[in-house]
Amino acid sequence: MPVKPYIGFVCLFCASLYGAGALQPQQFDALVKQIERGERPFFSIADYQQTLLELEAALPANDTKRTSMLNRLRCTLAYFDKPEQGISFSDEKISQAKAKHDYETLADYYVCRYYLYSQLGQTQLAEQNARLSYDAASASENPLSIAISLSLLGSIDSYRGNYADAMQHYVSAYQLQLSLGYRSYINDLVLSIAATYRRMGLYQDALNYLEQAEQEFTAPQEQFRLAMILNEKAFSYAELGQPKQALELFEQALQAYQQLDEPLWQTYIKVNLVWIYNLLQQYDNASLFHRQALAELESSTVQDHSSLATYKGLLALYHSETLVALQQPEDALHQVTLAEQYLSIDDNPRYRLMLYQARAAALAATGDGIAAYQMLQHYVSSNQQQQQLAREQQSNLLRIQFDSARQQERNQQLAAEKALMQQHVSTLQLAQRWQYVALSLIALLLLILFSAAVSLKKRNSRLHNLAMTDELTGIANRRRIMLLAEQERVKALDTTLPLSFLSLDLDHFKQVNDRYGHEAGDLALQQFSLTVSSLLREQDHFGRTGGEEFLIVLPDTTLQQAEIIAERLRHAVAAIEVNDSKQPFSITCSLGIAQSRHDELLNITLGRADDALYKAKANGRNRSCQ
Ligand code: GH3
Ligand code: MG
Ligand code: MG
Repeated sequence: MPVKPYIGFVCLFCASLYGAGALQPQQFDALVKQIERGERPFFSIADYQQTLLELEAALPANDTKRTSMLNRLRCTLAYFDKPEQGISFSDEKISQAKAKHDYETLADYYVCRYYLYSQLGQTQLAEQNARLSYDAASASENPLSIAISLSLLGSIDSYRGNYADAMQHYVSAYQLQLSLGYRSYINDLVLSIAATYRRMGLYQDALNYLEQAEQEFTAPQEQFRLAMILNEKAFSYAELGQPKQALELFEQALQAYQQLDEPLWQTYIKVNLVWIYNLLQQYDNASLFHRQALAELESSTVQDHSSLATYKGLLALYHSETLVALQQPEDALHQVTLAEQYLSIDDNPRYRLMLYQARAAALAATGDGIAAYQMLQHYVSSNQQQQQLAREQQSNLLRIQFDSARQQERNQQLAAEKALMQQHVSTLQLAQRWQYVALSLIALLLLILFSAAVSLKKRNSRLHNLAMTDELTGIANRRRIMLLAEQERVKALDTTLPLSFLSLDLDHFKQVNDRYGHEAGDLALQQFSLTVSSLLREQDHFGRTGGEEFLIVLPDTTLQQAEIIAERLRHAVAAIEVNDSKQPFSITCSLGIAQSRHDELLNITLGRADDALYKAKANGRNRSCQ
């Protein structure tokens, strides 16, 4: 990625400056403020040097606070193109800050070293510094430093493919930045979150975030980020299999970068256009953009070697696809080899997959079927690994989302309880103004009425509960769960949110009874219900529809998400150890999954869930099917 991330970094120093609260050196402060608001463009080394000169000129004499700030700024502004020197500069500052226990400064220099090591392609050292910056930031208790180091940790996790962890770091950073109000950081984080969703294959979530961000980017100085959003949206559409939309967005992004006079990004978009034109089977256009991008990359004077190598690698990869389509397999093979050389710089699993696929296609085109087949096998096994990883990540993410949904519900409940308490207190205060005699008479009367009402209500609710609860397991009985399912179906019609159902049946339960006795069977049903209940969100519903048959209603859940939940439940059930007096045993269950279709009657959807359940049984049990 070109120079852009530094825009964010430079702002790191702004907060502490305002902390100084001095009014005298307005010019220096105004300049820093400009940087902080993202109003200062950093597209080239010259921009960094210019800014540094202006800051140095505006620095008041004998102002230690601002001198220290300038030094911290200098770390990136001056050493952007000479990272080794920057590293020794920050090494020295780090040992000084350590001696003074100045954690805020320490965190800043670790962040600087993170960027400088990244610049050198030394990922491990970069990662180490990101972690150190987080520790120092936490010790300093400065929220801005903490937020910045969290987003660094997020980008490292995202790079490593740990998307759920990345998301957690990004979201924490995002929340901190929202409370601090630094727009440029907030917007950067929205983009990072969207890109992470996209890499996880959650395109709709990615697009939701991007559209939300797009509406906020109307200020003229934010054209650069608007272009980044267009770019990121284009990726989502292309990966969703909608290349026409992607083409339109990439063209808009290209225009935006042309207006911004930002050559490296223009070239990057052209590289992506080769990919899109291949998808659209417009190979003339693909070749045209390949030639343009290649010429631009070869003559580029930009210092960012790692971005240049990545772009060259991707360009060669996409060009190989064009060449295969144009039946020039030997040239295509050559391009794949070239791409491998460039892209091996960072060991990115996504690129590796693309390279296998491209090589297989080129080999097949040369007529070398066996080699193509072998390469395809690499692709398939690597793809399976990736998919497995993606599924795990999605399920982790779902867990995080569930946890935060639960937390939110709990907070709302607490707030409601608090409001009720306050109401009680004010009622009591009001009552004190009354005459004591009148009060005690009325209170007595109220008490009698109230206790009568309470006991009536208690009896009613006991009856109601009896009618609605399953005696053995304590969860909803058939009548209640069907009622809830129908309510959710109507709600989903109104809100157009997705709604899914899981139909569950314990496997070979007759045998369980035969082998361990009916009581042990009952205990198994109870433990099963407890385990499943503990894994569901508060908004989900769980009920017993028959002997060893159950239904789960999952509001706001797509089929894909329901599948993840089903698998999680299945694993948890298989891990249950039923501990009856004699001998412990385990149980399994089969699950059928169905998502409610628009306007579909409940019976029909549940019928589909049951069909899926039968399929799971027929396929060998202890599994989930759709
Ligand atoms: P499958 O894997 O095909 O579902 O086999 P299965 O044996 O579980 O299915 P089947 O429908 O043949 O048997 C269900 C058994 O569940 C029969 C019944 O004895 C047992 N069962 C139903 N309700 C209860 C209950 O409340 N307590 C106990 N202990 N067992 C029950
Ligand atoms: Mg059954
Ligand atoms: Mg059964």
